Amino acid sequence: MGSCPQSGESVMGDIAVIGGGAAGAAAFGELLSRYDAGTVHWIVGPQELGRGVAYATRDDRHLLNVRAAGMGVFHEHAEDFIQHAARQLGQVKGTDFLPRRIFGDFIQAQVGARIDAARRLGRSFRIYPESAQHIVVRDEGGYAVRIGGERWLEVTQVVLAVGSLAQRPLRTVSSQALDSGAYALDPWRLERHTSAPRRVLVIGTGLTAVDTLLSVAERWPHAELVAVSRHGLWPFTHSPLPLSSYAGQEALNRDLLACDSVAAMVRRVRQAFDDAEEHDWRSIIDGMRPVNALLWQRLGDARRRQFLRHVRWVWESSRHRMAPASGQAIHQLLEEGRLQVRAARVLAVDGAGPLQVTLRERATQLVSTLGADLVIQATGLDTAIAYGEHELLARLLNDSLAVADPLQLGVLARADGQLLGAHGEPQRGLFAIGSLLRGNLWECTAMPEIRAAAHQLAVRLSDAAVATSRDNVQDMP
Ligand SMILES: Cc1cc2nc3c(=O)[nH]c(=O)nc-3n(C[C@H](O)[C@H](O)[C@H](O)COP(=O)(O)OP(=O)(O)OC[C@H]3O[C@@H](n4cnc5c(N)ncnc54)[C@H](O)[C@@H]3O)c2cc1C
Repeated sequence: MGSCPQSGESVMGDIAVIGGGAAGAAAFGELLSRYDAGTVHWIVGPQELGRGVAYATRDDRHLLNVRAAGMGVFHEHAEDFIQHAARQLGQVKGTDFLPRRIFGDFIQAQVGARIDAARRLGRSFRIYPESAQHIVVRDEGGYAVRIGGERWLEVTQVVLAVGSLAQRPLRTVSSQALDSGAYALDPWRLERHTSAPRRVLVIGTGLTAVDTLLSVAERWPHAELVAVSRHGLWPFTHSPLPLSSYAGQEALNRDLLACDSVAAMVRRVRQAFDDAEEHDWRSIIDGMRPVNALLWQRLGDARRRQFLRHVRWVWESSRHRMAPASGQAIHQLLEEGRLQVRAARVLAVDGAGPLQVTLRERATQLVSTLGADLVIQATGLDTAIAYGEHELLARLLNDSLAVADPLQLGVLARADGQLLGAHGEPQRGLFAIGSLLRGNLWECTAMPEIRAAAHQLAVRLSDAAVATSRDNVQDMP
Protein backbone atom coordinates (compact mmCIF):
# COMPACT_ATOMS: atom_id res chain seq x y z
CA MET A 1 0.00 0.00 0.00
CA GLY A 2 1.31 3.47 -0.88
CA SER A 3 1.77 6.18 1.68
CA CYS A 4 -1.52 7.89 2.33
CA PRO A 5 -1.65 11.61 3.12
CA GLN A 6 -2.42 12.83 6.62
CA SER A 7 -4.40 15.77 5.34
CA GLY A 8 -6.02 15.24 1.98
CA GLU A 9 -7.89 17.68 -0.20
CA SER A 10 -11.36 16.81 0.82
CA VAL A 11 -13.83 15.70 3.45
CA MET A 12 -15.62 12.41 4.03
CA GLY A 13 -18.82 12.06 2.02
CA ASP A 14 -17.02 12.90 -1.21
CA ILE A 15 -17.08 10.68 -4.27
CA ALA A 16 -14.43 10.22 -6.97
CA VAL A 17 -15.45 9.25 -10.49
CA ILE A 18 -12.33 8.12 -12.36
CA GLY A 19 -12.38 8.20 -16.18
CA GLY A 20 -13.42 10.92 -18.57
CA GLY A 21 -15.18 8.85 -21.28
CA ALA A 22 -18.89 8.41 -21.86
CA ALA A 23 -19.37 6.16 -18.81
CA GLY A 24 -17.56 8.60 -16.53
CA ALA A 25 -19.66 11.45 -17.97
CA ALA A 26 -22.88 9.51 -17.35
CA ALA A 27 -21.91 8.67 -13.75
CA PHE A 28 -20.69 12.20 -12.99
CA GLY A 29 -23.80 13.84 -14.48
CA GLU A 30 -26.18 11.50 -12.64
CA LEU A 31 -24.36 12.16 -9.35
CA LEU A 32 -24.38 15.93 -9.92
CA SER A 33 -28.14 15.93 -10.15
CA ARG A 34 -28.79 13.97 -6.98
CA TYR A 35 -25.74 13.74 -4.71
CA ASP A 36 -25.49 16.45 -2.08
CA ALA A 37 -23.66 14.71 0.77
CA GLY A 38 -20.24 15.95 -0.36
CA THR A 39 -18.15 16.94 -3.36
CA VAL A 40 -18.24 14.90 -6.57
CA HIS A 41 -14.69 14.76 -7.98
CA TRP A 42 -14.37 13.84 -11.65
CA ILE A 43 -10.88 12.72 -12.64
CA VAL A 44 -10.92 12.78 -16.41
CA GLY A 45 -7.30 12.36 -17.52
CA PRO A 46 -5.73 14.45 -20.28
CA GLN A 47 -8.21 13.47 -23.04
CA GLU A 48 -11.08 15.57 -24.26
CA LEU A 49 -13.82 15.47 -21.69
CA GLY A 50 -16.70 13.01 -22.14
CA ARG A 51 -15.78 11.56 -25.53
CA GLY A 52 -13.57 8.62 -24.59
CA VAL A 53 -12.43 6.19 -27.27
CA ALA A 54 -15.75 5.88 -29.11
CA TYR A 55 -16.79 9.51 -29.54
CA ALA A 56 -13.44 11.28 -29.99
CA THR A 57 -13.42 10.52 -33.72
CA ARG A 58 -13.88 13.45 -36.10
CA ASP A 59 -14.37 11.19 -39.11
CA ASP A 60 -18.02 11.34 -40.14
CA ARG A 61 -17.76 7.93 -41.76
CA HIS A 62 -17.62 6.55 -38.20
CA LEU A 63 -21.27 6.02 -37.42
CA LEU A 64 -23.16 5.10 -34.29
CA ASN A 65 -24.31 1.51 -34.33
CA VAL A 66 -27.41 2.40 -32.30
CA ARG A 67 -30.26 4.43 -33.81
CA ALA A 68 -30.40 8.08 -32.76
CA ALA A 69 -33.55 7.47 -30.70
CA GLY A 70 -31.68 4.92 -28.55
CA MET A 71 -28.73 7.17 -27.78
CA GLY A 72 -28.61 9.27 -24.63
CA VAL A 73 -26.18 10.01 -21.82
CA PHE A 74 -28.57 10.13 -18.92
CA HIS A 75 -31.48 8.02 -17.75
CA GLU A 76 -33.96 10.80 -18.50
CA HIS A 77 -32.94 11.49 -22.07
CA ALA A 78 -36.19 11.59 -24.07
CA GLU A 79 -35.62 13.08 -27.55
CA ASP A 80 -32.66 15.23 -26.56
CA PHE A 81 -30.07 13.67 -28.85
CA ILE A 82 -32.30 13.86 -31.90
CA GLN A 83 -32.98 17.54 -31.25
CA HIS A 84 -29.31 18.24 -30.65
CA ALA A 85 -28.31 16.46 -33.86
CA ALA A 86 -31.02 18.25 -35.85
CA ARG A 87 -29.47 21.58 -34.87
CA GLN A 88 -26.25 20.46 -36.61
CA LEU A 89 -27.57 18.36 -39.46
CA GLY A 90 -31.02 19.69 -40.25
CA GLN A 91 -33.64 17.01 -40.35
CA VAL A 92 -32.87 13.93 -38.27
CA LYS A 93 -35.04 10.88 -37.71
CA GLY A 94 -34.94 8.73 -34.61
CA THR A 95 -34.22 5.73 -36.81
CA ASP A 96 -31.01 7.26 -38.28
CA PHE A 97 -27.48 6.09 -37.55
CA LEU A 98 -25.59 9.35 -37.05
CA PRO A 99 -21.87 10.16 -36.91
CA ARG A 100 -20.33 9.37 -33.53
CA ARG A 101 -18.71 12.82 -33.49
CA ILE A 102 -22.15 14.36 -33.00
CA PHE A 103 -22.84 12.14 -30.03
CA GLY A 104 -19.49 13.27 -28.56
CA ASP A 105 -20.64 16.89 -28.90
CA PHE A 106 -23.92 15.93 -27.30
CA ILE A 107 -22.22 14.31 -24.27
CA GLN A 108 -20.25 17.49 -23.71
CA ALA A 109 -23.38 19.65 -24.00
CA GLN A 110 -25.33 17.40 -21.63
CA VAL A 111 -22.60 17.38 -19.00
CA GLY A 112 -22.29 21.16 -19.38
CA ALA A 113 -26.01 21.53 -18.68
CA ARG A 114 -25.77 19.35 -15.56
CA ILE A 115 -22.80 21.42 -14.38
CA ASP A 116 -24.79 24.64 -14.80
CA ALA A 117 -27.73 23.15 -12.92
CA ALA A 118 -25.44 21.92 -10.12
CA ARG A 119 -23.96 25.42 -9.80
CA ARG A 120 -27.43 26.91 -9.48
CA LEU A 121 -28.26 24.38 -6.76
CA GLY A 122 -24.99 25.10 -4.95
CA ARG A 123 -23.77 21.51 -5.37
CA SER A 124 -20.08 20.90 -4.88
CA PHE A 125 -17.98 19.31 -7.64
CA ARG A 126 -14.51 19.48 -9.17
CA ILE A 127 -13.01 18.29 -12.45
CA TYR A 128 -9.34 17.28 -12.77
CA PRO A 129 -7.54 16.95 -16.12
CA GLU A 130 -5.11 14.44 -14.56
CA SER A 131 -5.05 10.66 -14.32
CA ALA A 132 -5.64 8.71 -11.13
CA GLN A 133 -2.64 6.54 -10.32
CA HIS A 134 -3.33 4.89 -7.00
CA ILE A 135 -6.18 4.20 -4.59
CA VAL A 136 -5.47 3.29 -0.99
CA VAL A 137 -7.77 2.41 1.89
CA ARG A 138 -7.74 4.96 4.69
CA ASP A 139 -7.57 3.78 8.29
CA GLU A 140 -10.46 6.12 9.07
CA GLY A 141 -12.56 4.51 6.32
CA GLY A 142 -13.01 5.45 2.69
CA TYR A 143 -10.21 5.86 0.18
CA ALA A 144 -7.44 8.21 -0.81
CA VAL A 145 -6.98 8.63 -4.55
CA ARG A 146 -3.64 9.87 -5.89
CA ILE A 147 -3.89 12.01 -8.98
CA GLY A 148 -1.30 13.76 -11.12
CA GLY A 149 1.75 12.90 -9.01
CA GLU A 150 1.60 13.45 -5.27
CA ARG A 151 -1.83 15.02 -4.85
CA TRP A 152 -4.39 13.01 -2.86
CA LEU A 153 -8.17 13.21 -2.68
CA GLU A 154 -9.95 11.68 0.29
CA VAL A 155 -13.32 10.19 -0.55
CA THR A 156 -15.81 7.70 0.83
CA GLN A 157 -16.71 6.13 -2.49
CA VAL A 158 -14.99 5.57 -5.81
CA VAL A 159 -16.47 4.84 -9.25
CA LEU A 160 -14.03 3.35 -11.77
CA ALA A 161 -15.04 4.32 -15.31
CA VAL A 162 -11.69 3.74 -16.97
CA GLY A 163 -12.93 1.92 -20.09
CA SER A 164 -10.94 -0.86 -21.69
CA LEU A 165 -7.16 -1.14 -21.78
CA ALA A 166 -4.75 0.25 -24.34
CA GLN A 167 -4.12 -2.42 -26.99
CA ARG A 168 -1.29 -4.88 -26.39
CA PRO A 169 0.46 -6.18 -29.50
CA LEU A 170 -0.50 -9.69 -30.57
CA ARG A 171 2.05 -12.24 -29.39
CA THR A 172 2.91 -13.06 -32.99
CA VAL A 173 4.30 -9.57 -33.72
CA SER A 174 8.11 -9.38 -33.54
CA SER A 175 9.82 -6.55 -31.69
CA GLN A 176 11.47 -5.52 -34.96
CA ALA A 177 8.03 -5.10 -36.54
CA LEU A 178 6.81 -3.15 -33.52
CA ASP A 179 9.81 -0.82 -33.66
CA SER A 180 9.51 -0.33 -37.41
CA GLY A 181 6.74 2.26 -37.14
CA ALA A 182 4.78 0.26 -39.74
CA TYR A 183 2.69 -1.58 -37.12
CA ALA A 184 -0.16 0.55 -35.72
CA LEU A 185 -1.41 -0.60 -32.33
CA ASP A 186 -4.03 2.11 -31.99
CA PRO A 187 -6.40 2.21 -34.97
CA TRP A 188 -7.80 5.57 -33.80
CA ARG A 189 -4.46 7.34 -34.13
CA LEU A 190 -3.22 6.88 -37.63
CA GLU A 191 -2.27 10.57 -38.19
CA ARG A 192 1.40 9.89 -37.61
CA HIS A 193 1.54 7.46 -40.53
CA THR A 194 2.16 10.07 -43.19
CA SER A 195 3.58 8.26 -46.22
CA ALA A 196 0.99 6.66 -48.51
CA PRO A 197 1.11 2.85 -48.17
CA ARG A 198 0.63 0.60 -51.21
CA ARG A 199 -0.95 -2.14 -49.13
CA VAL A 200 -2.60 -1.84 -45.71
CA LEU A 201 -3.41 -4.98 -43.76
CA VAL A 202 -5.95 -4.68 -40.96
CA ILE A 203 -6.06 -7.43 -38.34
CA GLY A 204 -9.71 -7.84 -37.37
CA THR A 205 -13.06 -7.69 -39.19
CA GLY A 206 -15.24 -6.33 -36.36
CA LEU A 207 -16.72 -2.85 -35.88
CA THR A 208 -13.35 -1.23 -35.15
CA ALA A 209 -11.87 -2.79 -38.29
CA VAL A 210 -14.80 -1.53 -40.37
CA ASP A 211 -14.26 2.06 -39.23
CA THR A 212 -10.51 1.74 -39.73
CA LEU A 213 -10.94 0.45 -43.30
CA LEU A 214 -13.38 3.23 -44.19
CA SER A 215 -10.95 5.90 -42.95
CA VAL A 216 -7.94 4.29 -44.60
CA ALA A 217 -9.79 3.85 -47.92
CA GLU A 218 -10.56 7.55 -48.01
CA ARG A 219 -7.19 8.76 -46.82
CA TRP A 220 -5.15 6.56 -49.19
CA PRO A 221 -7.39 6.05 -52.24
CA HIS A 222 -4.73 4.04 -54.09
CA ALA A 223 -3.90 1.64 -51.28
CA GLU A 224 -4.84 -2.01 -51.59
CA LEU A 225 -6.68 -3.15 -48.44
CA VAL A 226 -6.63 -6.56 -46.79
CA ALA A 227 -8.61 -7.52 -43.69
CA VAL A 228 -7.77 -10.71 -41.80
CA SER A 229 -9.61 -12.49 -39.03
CA ARG A 230 -10.03 -16.11 -38.05
CA HIS A 231 -13.50 -16.44 -39.53
CA GLY A 232 -13.34 -13.53 -41.96
CA LEU A 233 -16.83 -12.54 -40.85
CA TRP A 234 -17.98 -8.91 -40.97
CA PRO A 235 -20.56 -7.62 -38.51
CA PHE A 236 -24.05 -8.03 -39.97
CA THR A 237 -25.81 -4.80 -40.84
CA HIS A 238 -28.78 -3.24 -39.09
CA SER A 239 -32.01 -3.09 -41.02
CA PRO A 240 -32.67 0.41 -42.38
CA LEU A 241 -35.84 0.67 -40.29
CA PRO A 242 -36.61 -0.82 -36.86
CA LEU A 243 -38.02 -4.34 -36.94
CA SER A 244 -41.21 -5.58 -35.35
CA SER A 245 -40.72 -7.78 -32.31
CA TYR A 246 -40.91 -11.53 -32.56
CA ALA A 247 -44.15 -12.94 -31.16
CA GLY A 248 -42.37 -15.87 -29.53
CA GLN A 249 -39.69 -13.76 -27.83
CA GLU A 250 -40.99 -14.13 -24.29
CA ALA A 251 -41.15 -17.91 -24.62
CA LEU A 252 -37.69 -17.97 -26.19
CA ASN A 253 -36.15 -15.89 -23.40
CA ARG A 254 -37.84 -18.06 -20.78
CA ASP A 255 -36.55 -21.23 -22.44
CA LEU A 256 -33.04 -19.82 -22.73
CA LEU A 257 -32.99 -19.12 -19.01
CA ALA A 258 -33.88 -22.78 -18.42
CA CYS A 259 -31.10 -24.12 -20.71
CA ASP A 260 -28.28 -25.92 -18.95
CA SER A 261 -25.59 -25.59 -21.59
CA VAL A 262 -24.31 -23.22 -24.25
CA ALA A 263 -25.09 -25.80 -26.94
CA ALA A 264 -28.71 -26.01 -25.74
CA MET A 265 -29.01 -22.21 -25.91
CA VAL A 266 -27.64 -22.14 -29.45
CA ARG A 267 -30.08 -24.90 -30.46
CA ARG A 268 -33.00 -23.02 -28.95
CA VAL A 269 -32.10 -19.79 -30.78
CA ARG A 270 -31.72 -21.71 -34.06
CA GLN A 271 -35.11 -23.29 -33.48
CA ALA A 272 -36.61 -19.81 -33.04
CA PHE A 273 -35.03 -18.74 -36.36
CA ASP A 274 -36.55 -21.81 -38.05
CA ASP A 275 -39.98 -21.36 -36.44
CA ALA A 276 -40.08 -17.71 -37.45
CA GLU A 277 -38.84 -18.13 -40.99
CA GLU A 278 -40.76 -15.09 -42.15
CA HIS A 279 -39.43 -12.97 -39.32
CA ASP A 280 -36.11 -11.07 -39.46
CA TRP A 281 -33.64 -12.97 -37.26
CA ARG A 282 -32.08 -9.69 -36.11
CA SER A 283 -35.09 -8.75 -34.01
CA ILE A 284 -34.89 -12.14 -32.25
CA ILE A 285 -31.28 -11.43 -31.28
CA ASP A 286 -32.19 -7.89 -30.16
CA GLY A 287 -35.13 -9.24 -28.17
CA MET A 288 -32.69 -11.23 -26.02
CA ARG A 289 -31.20 -8.01 -24.65
CA PRO A 290 -33.21 -8.07 -21.38
CA VAL A 291 -31.92 -11.57 -20.50
CA ASN A 292 -28.37 -11.47 -21.86
CA ALA A 293 -26.76 -10.55 -18.55
CA LEU A 294 -28.82 -13.17 -16.68
CA LEU A 295 -27.89 -15.86 -19.20
CA TRP A 296 -24.21 -15.00 -18.84
CA GLN A 297 -24.43 -15.01 -15.04
CA ARG A 298 -25.92 -18.51 -15.07
CA LEU A 299 -22.98 -19.95 -16.97
CA GLY A 300 -20.06 -21.15 -14.84
CA ASP A 301 -16.46 -20.49 -15.90
CA ALA A 302 -16.22 -23.66 -18.00
CA ARG A 303 -19.34 -22.81 -19.99
CA ARG A 304 -18.32 -19.20 -20.35
CA ARG A 305 -15.04 -20.46 -21.80
CA GLN A 306 -17.00 -22.62 -24.26
CA PHE A 307 -19.06 -19.62 -25.27
CA LEU A 308 -15.97 -17.46 -25.77
CA ARG A 309 -14.26 -20.12 -27.85
CA HIS A 310 -17.12 -21.38 -30.02
CA VAL A 311 -19.95 -18.86 -30.07
CA ARG A 312 -18.50 -15.43 -29.37
CA TRP A 313 -17.40 -14.70 -32.94
CA VAL A 314 -20.84 -15.27 -34.39
CA TRP A 315 -22.62 -13.66 -31.44
CA GLU A 316 -20.55 -10.48 -31.73
CA SER A 317 -21.23 -10.15 -35.48
CA SER A 318 -24.95 -10.78 -35.04
CA ARG A 319 -25.50 -8.71 -31.93
CA HIS A 320 -23.16 -5.74 -32.57
CA ARG A 321 -24.16 -4.88 -36.09
CA MET A 322 -22.98 -2.03 -38.26
CA ALA A 323 -25.01 0.85 -39.60
CA PRO A 324 -26.44 0.18 -43.09
CA ALA A 325 -24.25 2.92 -44.63
CA SER A 326 -21.08 1.35 -43.19
CA GLY A 327 -22.16 -2.03 -44.55
CA GLN A 328 -22.74 -0.53 -48.00
CA ALA A 329 -19.35 1.18 -47.99
CA ILE A 330 -17.54 -2.07 -47.09
CA HIS A 331 -19.55 -3.94 -49.69
CA GLN A 332 -18.56 -1.38 -52.33
CA LEU A 333 -14.85 -1.70 -51.45
CA LEU A 334 -15.15 -5.48 -51.79
CA GLU A 335 -17.02 -5.19 -55.10
CA GLU A 336 -14.45 -2.78 -56.50
CA GLY A 337 -11.73 -5.27 -55.60
CA ARG A 338 -9.95 -2.71 -53.40
CA LEU A 339 -10.61 -4.74 -50.28
CA GLN A 340 -9.91 -8.40 -49.79
CA VAL A 341 -10.99 -10.38 -46.74
CA ARG A 342 -9.05 -13.42 -45.55
CA ALA A 343 -10.31 -15.99 -43.04
CA ALA A 344 -6.94 -16.86 -41.58
CA ARG A 345 -4.86 -16.91 -38.44
CA VAL A 346 -1.97 -14.45 -38.18
CA LEU A 347 1.06 -16.63 -37.44
CA ALA A 348 3.69 -13.90 -37.53
CA VAL A 349 4.27 -10.24 -38.29
CA ASP A 350 7.92 -9.54 -38.94
CA GLY A 351 10.32 -7.28 -40.79
CA ALA A 352 11.23 -3.64 -40.60
CA GLY A 353 8.77 -2.22 -43.14
CA PRO A 354 7.30 -3.28 -45.41
CA LEU A 355 6.19 -5.90 -42.89
CA GLN A 356 5.85 -9.57 -43.73
CA VAL A 357 2.61 -11.08 -42.41
CA THR A 358 2.40 -14.87 -42.31
CA LEU A 359 -1.11 -16.29 -42.43
CA ARG A 360 -2.64 -19.74 -42.17
CA GLU A 361 -5.86 -19.89 -44.18
CA ARG A 362 -8.81 -21.29 -42.24
CA ALA A 363 -10.29 -23.31 -45.12
CA THR A 364 -7.13 -24.83 -46.58
CA GLN A 365 -4.62 -24.57 -43.70
CA LEU A 366 -2.19 -23.27 -46.32
CA VAL A 367 0.49 -20.93 -45.02
CA SER A 368 1.43 -17.85 -47.03
CA THR A 369 3.24 -14.56 -46.45
CA LEU A 370 1.97 -11.18 -47.49
CA GLY A 371 3.86 -7.89 -47.56
CA ALA A 372 2.19 -4.76 -46.15
CA ASP A 373 3.49 -1.21 -45.75
CA LEU A 374 1.16 -0.66 -42.84
CA VAL A 375 -0.39 -3.25 -40.51
CA ILE A 376 -3.15 -2.03 -38.20
CA GLN A 377 -4.28 -4.02 -35.17
CA ALA A 378 -8.04 -3.55 -34.86
CA THR A 379 -8.93 -6.45 -32.61
CA GLY A 380 -11.40 -4.71 -30.28
CA LEU A 381 -11.81 -4.39 -26.52
CA ASP A 382 -9.03 -5.59 -24.23
CA THR A 383 -10.11 -6.12 -20.63
CA ALA A 384 -7.31 -8.46 -19.52
CA ILE A 385 -6.26 -6.26 -16.63
CA ALA A 386 -3.82 -8.82 -15.23
CA TYR A 387 -1.71 -8.42 -18.39
CA GLY A 388 -2.33 -4.77 -19.25
CA GLU A 389 -0.15 -1.83 -18.30
CA HIS A 390 -2.77 0.35 -16.67
CA GLU A 391 -1.05 1.84 -13.66
CA LEU A 392 -4.13 2.32 -11.49
CA LEU A 393 -5.63 -1.09 -12.22
CA ALA A 394 -2.27 -2.84 -11.74
CA ARG A 395 -2.01 -1.25 -8.28
CA LEU A 396 -5.58 -2.18 -7.39
CA LEU A 397 -4.77 -5.82 -8.22
CA ASN A 398 -1.49 -5.67 -6.38
CA ASP A 399 -3.12 -4.20 -3.25
CA SER A 400 -5.93 -6.82 -3.45
CA LEU A 401 -8.58 -4.13 -3.80
CA ALA A 402 -9.58 -5.70 -7.11
CA VAL A 403 -9.38 -9.24 -8.46
CA ALA A 404 -9.08 -9.99 -12.17
CA ASP A 405 -11.91 -11.95 -13.73
CA PRO A 406 -10.66 -15.53 -14.38
CA LEU A 407 -11.51 -15.20 -18.09
CA GLN A 408 -9.81 -11.79 -18.30
CA LEU A 409 -13.09 -9.94 -18.70
CA GLY A 410 -12.33 -7.07 -16.34
CA VAL A 411 -12.65 -7.37 -12.55
CA LEU A 412 -14.67 -9.57 -10.23
CA ALA A 413 -17.71 -7.56 -9.27
CA ARG A 414 -21.36 -7.82 -8.32
CA ALA A 415 -24.01 -7.06 -10.91
CA ASP A 416 -24.44 -3.55 -9.45
CA GLY A 417 -20.75 -2.84 -10.10
CA GLN A 418 -19.41 -3.23 -6.57
CA LEU A 419 -15.94 -4.75 -6.72
CA LEU A 420 -15.29 -8.06 -4.99
CA GLY A 421 -12.16 -9.03 -3.08
CA ALA A 422 -10.23 -12.31 -3.27
CA HIS A 423 -12.71 -14.11 -0.98
CA GLY A 424 -15.77 -12.73 -2.71
CA GLU A 425 -16.25 -9.97 -0.13
CA PRO A 426 -17.75 -6.72 -1.49
CA GLN A 427 -15.27 -3.83 -1.37
CA ARG A 428 -17.07 -1.14 0.53
CA GLY A 429 -17.58 2.02 -1.52
CA LEU A 430 -15.62 0.75 -4.56
CA PHE A 431 -17.57 0.44 -7.80
CA ALA A 432 -16.99 0.08 -11.53
CA ILE A 433 -19.06 0.85 -14.58
CA GLY A 434 -18.62 -0.14 -18.23
CA SER A 435 -16.26 -2.66 -19.76
CA LEU A 436 -14.53 -3.61 -16.49
CA LEU A 437 -17.78 -5.42 -15.60
CA ARG A 438 -17.90 -7.73 -18.61
CA GLY A 439 -17.08 -10.71 -16.41
CA ASN A 440 -20.31 -10.19 -14.51
CA LEU A 441 -22.62 -8.64 -17.07
CA TRP A 442 -21.06 -9.59 -20.41
CA GLU A 443 -22.86 -6.76 -22.23
CA CYS A 444 -22.32 -3.50 -20.40
CA THR A 445 -20.46 -1.33 -22.87
CA ALA A 446 -23.11 0.31 -25.06
CA MET A 447 -24.80 3.56 -24.05
CA PRO A 448 -28.25 2.07 -23.29
CA GLU A 449 -26.64 -0.20 -20.66
CA ILE A 450 -24.16 2.42 -19.46
CA ARG A 451 -26.75 5.11 -18.79
CA ALA A 452 -29.00 2.67 -16.92
CA ALA A 453 -26.03 1.53 -14.82
CA ALA A 454 -24.92 5.13 -14.14
CA HIS A 455 -28.40 6.04 -12.96
CA GLN A 456 -28.70 3.01 -10.67
CA LEU A 457 -25.23 3.64 -9.26
CA ALA A 458 -25.96 7.32 -8.54
CA VAL A 459 -29.20 6.36 -6.77
CA ARG A 460 -27.39 3.72 -4.76
CA LEU A 461 -24.49 5.97 -3.73
CA SER A 462 -26.84 8.79 -2.81
CA ASP A 463 -29.04 6.47 -0.75
CA ALA A 464 -25.95 5.10 1.00
CA ALA A 465 -24.88 8.64 1.92
CA VAL A 466 -28.35 9.46 3.31
CA ALA A 467 -28.35 6.23 5.36
CA THR A 468 -24.86 6.99 6.75
CA SER A 469 -25.80 10.51 7.80
CA ARG A 470 -29.02 9.17 9.43
CA ASP A 471 -26.96 6.60 11.37
CA ASN A 472 -24.56 9.33 12.46
CA VAL A 473 -27.41 11.48 13.77
CA GLN A 474 -28.85 8.53 15.71
CA ASP A 475 -25.41 7.79 17.20
CA MET A 476 -25.12 11.31 18.59
CA PRO A 477 -25.44 11.51 22.38
C1 LIG B 1 -15.25 2.44 -31.68
C2 LIG B 1 -16.43 2.29 -30.77
C3 LIG B 1 -17.70 2.59 -31.22
C4 LIG B 1 -18.79 2.48 -30.38
N1 LIG B 1 -20.02 2.81 -30.84
C5 LIG B 1 -21.07 2.77 -30.00
C6 LIG B 1 -22.38 3.18 -30.44
O1 LIG B 1 -22.57 3.53 -31.58
N2 LIG B 1 -23.39 3.14 -29.55
C7 LIG B 1 -23.20 2.73 -28.27
O2 LIG B 1 -24.14 2.73 -27.50
N3 LIG B 1 -21.98 2.32 -27.85
C8 LIG B 1 -20.93 2.33 -28.68
N4 LIG B 1 -19.70 1.93 -28.24
C9 LIG B 1 -19.56 1.45 -26.89
C10 LIG B 1 -18.77 2.47 -26.05
O3 LIG B 1 -17.73 1.75 -25.45
C11 LIG B 1 -19.53 3.13 -24.99
O4 LIG B 1 -20.59 3.76 -25.58
C12 LIG B 1 -18.69 4.15 -24.20
O5 LIG B 1 -18.04 5.02 -25.08
C13 LIG B 1 -17.70 3.53 -23.25
O6 LIG B 1 -17.14 4.57 -22.51
P1 LIG B 1 -16.19 4.36 -21.28
O7 LIG B 1 -16.18 5.67 -20.57
O8 LIG B 1 -16.57 3.15 -20.52
O9 LIG B 1 -14.77 4.01 -21.90
P2 LIG B 1 -13.73 4.88 -22.70
O10 LIG B 1 -14.33 5.53 -23.87
O11 LIG B 1 -12.57 3.97 -22.95
O12 LIG B 1 -13.28 6.01 -21.70
C14 LIG B 1 -12.51 5.78 -20.55
C15 LIG B 1 -11.72 7.04 -20.26
O13 LIG B 1 -11.10 6.90 -19.00
C16 LIG B 1 -9.78 7.42 -19.09
N5 LIG B 1 -8.94 6.81 -18.06
C17 LIG B 1 -8.44 5.57 -18.04
N6 LIG B 1 -7.68 5.42 -16.92
C18 LIG B 1 -7.76 6.56 -16.24
C19 LIG B 1 -7.18 7.01 -15.01
N7 LIG B 1 -6.39 6.23 -14.28
N8 LIG B 1 -7.44 8.27 -14.61
C20 LIG B 1 -8.24 9.09 -15.35
N9 LIG B 1 -8.80 8.72 -16.51
C21 LIG B 1 -8.55 7.47 -16.95
C22 LIG B 1 -9.36 7.04 -20.50
O14 LIG B 1 -8.29 7.81 -20.94
C23 LIG B 1 -10.63 7.31 -21.28
O15 LIG B 1 -10.69 8.64 -21.68
C24 LIG B 1 -18.60 2.03 -29.07
C25 LIG B 1 -17.31 1.71 -28.64
C26 LIG B 1 -16.23 1.85 -29.46
C27 LIG B 1 -14.86 1.52 -28.94
